[in-house]
Amino acid sequence: MIVLKFGGTSVGTADSLRNVREIALGLEEPAIIVVSALGGLTDRLIATAKAAAAGEDTAPEMEAIARRHYDIIEEVVPQERRDEVLETVRPLLSELARMYEGLNLIGDLPARTLDVIVSFGERMSAPIVAGMIDGARCHYSPSFVKTEKWFGKNIADTTLTSDLICKEFAEVSLEVTGGFISSDRDSGEITNLGRGGSDYTAALIAAALDARILDIWTDVDGFMTSDPRIIPSARIIPEMTFVESMELCSFGAKVIYPPTIYPVFHKNIPIRILNTFNPSARGTYISDRPAGSRENPVTGLSTLRDTCLVTLSGPTTANVASLNSRAYNAMARRGIQVFLLAQPGDDSDFSFAVASADAQRTVYVLNEEFAPELLDGALEDISVKDCLSTIAVVGDNLKAESGLAPRIVHSLTRAGIPVEAVSDGSSETTVTVMVPQQEATPALRLLHGLFFPQQI
Ligand code: ADP
Ligand code: ASP
Ligand code: MG
Repeated sequence: MIVLKFGGTSVGTADSLRNVREIALGLEEPAIIVVSALGGLTDRLIATAKAAAAGEDTAPEMEAIARRHYDIIEEVVPQERRDEVLETVRPLLSELARMYEGLNLIGDLPARTLDVIVSFGERMSAPIVAGMIDGARCHYSPSFVKTEKWFGKNIADTTLTSDLICKEFAEVSLEVTGGFISSDRDSGEITNLGRGGSDYTAALIAAALDARILDIWTDVDGFMTSDPRIIPSARIIPEMTFVESMELCSFGAKVIYPPTIYPVFHKNIPIRILNTFNPSARGTYISDRPAGSRENPVTGLSTLRDTCLVTLSGPTTANVASLNSRAYNAMARRGIQVFLLAQPGDDSDFSFAVASADAQRTVYVLNEEFAPELLDGALEDISVKDCLSTIAVVGDNLKAESGLAPRIVHSLTRAGIPVEAVSDGSSETTVTVMVPQQEATPALRLLHGLFFPQQI
């Protein structure tokens, strides 16, 4: 059994949907197909909801959304199944229009309402895709993907979800479901797994059912050495390990939604990244297979924007008992994720990185935790340097390389790019540097050129 996930661009137009159908009909084993909303629709649903709540007339936009779905149905769903698909999609479009009218009246957009609004994308795309593939059955993911609340976020309840997936897909032939959307395990309200979350839905299904492989079909020929929109000379990485992909994705490589990798890694189910628009390209194969003796110690680079560096300083932080563990525990209790521990210049500083969105809460939590030390002078200051980008240089073979971090820092500073922090301690696979946000693109270009020089 195999799980395939098709992203927004893959299901964005009648032409791309025909490619999806061809890929599905060419399968030689039972399969579950997970689809995103039609390309760009989730952004559009959100923008329209905001406009409606702001009092704008969204009827023309709603009309365009409806037209796009009806046109696609007409073009790709065979006549004999069209009525069945329209019976599902038409009431959804009417409900969506009513919701926009409601928002317009109340002039407010509660988070829960927005969750319901974004769910329409996958609720409509799944029946369309199932309807266009002969023999495919459609499933509703909120009935088997369950979330729970965690510090105001919705996170998957993986145990319950796994049990429900096994029940839902007790028999697999050719099944289709929307990704991304879920429901709260206690209230039953519609939730979602976060933007880009269809990848994660596919991974949860693959892991629960011990799939042979998880194929992520997208709009590029594979996982590349860097974001091709920033680095046009980026190359396809034919093979990489789960850990490498996990590092690159958690540091901003958008090609896979970060939580996706863990469930399949845990079950040792390989992932392939494939191109719906060029199905014969080999793509990228992600597995536990070590990279072996690759010539280049670096596999790829990625960038995470909107990060900040938090520094606790004092005469000597070594005097503060259990400083690291207290700081980490205090933040973990509030759901704040630390993703980089900076190498200290001397023992008067202890620095780490968090997302800019967490900066204020982090300072609050640390002030509370270290109130006694701040009062008696053992700690003098908790400061935040914001508007930084974090660049990750990733490779399984980095552990065998010595002196890579100093080389990276040297190259950047020689080019006049200030390095605010560096870390090669938290993971053996990754060296991370933090640079001012406006220097992120030149820094990435410079480092990509250093590790992947262009052949002439
Ligand atoms: P989908 O809609 O199929 O889920 P996404 O837009 O989420 O597609 O992810 C694919 C996009 O990720 C590519 O079009 C590319 O622009 C971007 N991307 C960013 N970093 C990388 C990378 N290292 N390798 C390949 N693509 C990348
Ligand atoms: N449609 C959702 C989004 O645009 C989920 C996904 O595409 O993976 O974020
Ligand atoms: Mg995606």
